[in-house]
Amino acid sequence: MTPISEETRLRERICLLAASLHARGLAHGSAGNISARLDDGRLLVTPTGSSLGFLDPAGLALLAPDGTHLSGDAPTKEVALHTAFYEVRRAPTGAVVHLHSHHSVALSLLPRVDPEDMLPPLTPYPIMQLGRVRLLPYLRPGDPALGDAIRSLPPEASAAVLANHGPVVAAETLDKAVFAMEELEAAARLTILCRDQSPRALTRAQVEALVKAFRIEL
Ligand SMILES: [Zn+2]
Repeated sequence: MTPISEETRLRERICLLAASLHARGLAHGSAGNISARLDDGRLLVTPTGSSLGFLDPAGLALLAPDGTHLSGDAPTKEVALHTAFYEVRRAPTGAVVHLHSHHSVALSLLPRVDPEDMLPPLTPYPIMQLGRVRLLPYLRPGDPALGDAIRSLPPEASAAVLANHGPVVAAETLDKAVFAMEELEAAARLTILCRDQSPRALTRAQVEALVKAFRIEL
């Protein structure tokens, strides 16, 4: 029996996790895109105009490390968000997920959101999985400056939200990127639920203890 290659496994995993995000309402229409990096630096990217609910593993775009389209369907028009994150992030980066998920977008529209740290420290896991989440300015879809906006993040960043558009999350593996994205969406939802009720957030000392215990770069 021929062993399953890393590429085949990753193609199937992208489609499985994308369908799961779609089934749970985190991706609608043709919104949202995912990329994952193979060991040799080539990128698998979800195609333009496709629904995350119904991807074909064989149809994913395969890009060379420099972004050249090698095979499969044309990649998402938002591919610059992905390539920029692989470029800028200091920690090993194996996947990038971008969604238009409602609670992260809703939080990006509200007043009194700190663009340098948009999630108040309500629970520990968003801090552990995302670090500090920055709010980036609105840019029109397809604007080449979208990649520049991601490149403006500090190298320790793992997540950002494009205002009036949606979140972008990077992580070491595809599964970790999806989990961190789910954590971001849940944290945005909690923030919106509690924000006008003076929630009892974690104290500075509690946040510092997390940062120390899990060696989080903020
Ligand atoms: Zn988008």
